[in-house]
Amino acid sequence: MPLSLEEALCPACRARGAAYDRTILGDTLVRCRDCGLAYVFPRPTATDLAEFYAALALNADYYHGQSAFKAAFFELCYRKIEAYCPTGKLLDLGCGDCGFLNAGYDRGFELYGSDLNPEVAKLARGPHLKFLVGPLEEQGIADGAFDVVFTAATYEHLLDPAATTREIARILRPGGLLAMVSVPNYRALNIRLGLEDWMVNRPPAHINFFTGASLAGLIAANGFKIREQWTYGLNPAPLKRRLLGQTSNEPLLEWLKKNKPKDRGGVFRPEIQAGGARPWLLPLAYAYLYFNYFDCGYKLALIAERR
Ligand SMILES: [Zn+2]
Repeated sequence: MPLSLEEALCPACRARGAAYDRTILGDTLVRCRDCGLAYVFPRPTATDLAEFYAALALNADYYHGQSAFKAAFFELCYRKIEAYCPTGKLLDLGCGDCGFLNAGYDRGFELYGSDLNPEVAKLARGPHLKFLVGPLEEQGIADGAFDVVFTAATYEHLLDPAATTREIARILRPGGLLAMVSVPNYRALNIRLGLEDWMVNRPPAHINFFTGASLAGLIAANGFKIREQWTYGLNPAPLKRRLLGQTSNEPLLEWLKKNKPKDRGGVFRPEIQAGGARPWLLPLAYAYLYFNYFDCGYKLALIAERR
């Protein structure tokens, strides 16, 4: 028997009961009546997610190194963080291919990365990085140990984003900074115009579908004061895939295996790391990150201060 919407439990605000929102490729999204978060329901289990990510064989197939544009983008992320906090201990939560960390070796931070995937430590370059493998809550990090937590493209994947936010608040010192980028925006232009094809932005990878308001609400309710938030970017990929007939009804895992990202020729390219971020790309990265689409940009960014 299908679960009733009254049994849905919001992973952000813990409210019971949700309204039907939409069905994408067989998965049902519901919307919390209290905080507005859209999320997949029923929720996958932690085991489901672990199996999905293990099967992705992330490092073998999906992390193909830093693009020059991404290095310029991360350069701007560091500049934004440094405007609030120029030095100290910085943790990249969900550090993935370590692009952000590898780009920060010549800055004023002591850099840490954390990821569920133990393979990512292999992608770190340089003695400036320290790794915490596994769930953040299991690392034995002291209260207030960090000055900055940066996290990119992470919150849409989290089974319990409220618990993760509380843990980030615990490990940050009072006044410490949470800087978040690259969370898909559920009010993005593609979605509002019906152009989104849901090939990538879907369960079991993405299970939380935030808007600026629902993300800020979650962060503010768990120990933070929001300092800045904005949306950025347009994503032409869904329209392009539609035109090229690259959409399908396959499960995400199968689809991803057939549609690997372009190989950029190795993980570490010193010539495009920070300090070497190509100057001519910085204005383009600036326009990407800061052009104002109001609430309709493709991604969400947020800067918050630990209360
Ligand atoms: Zn809620």
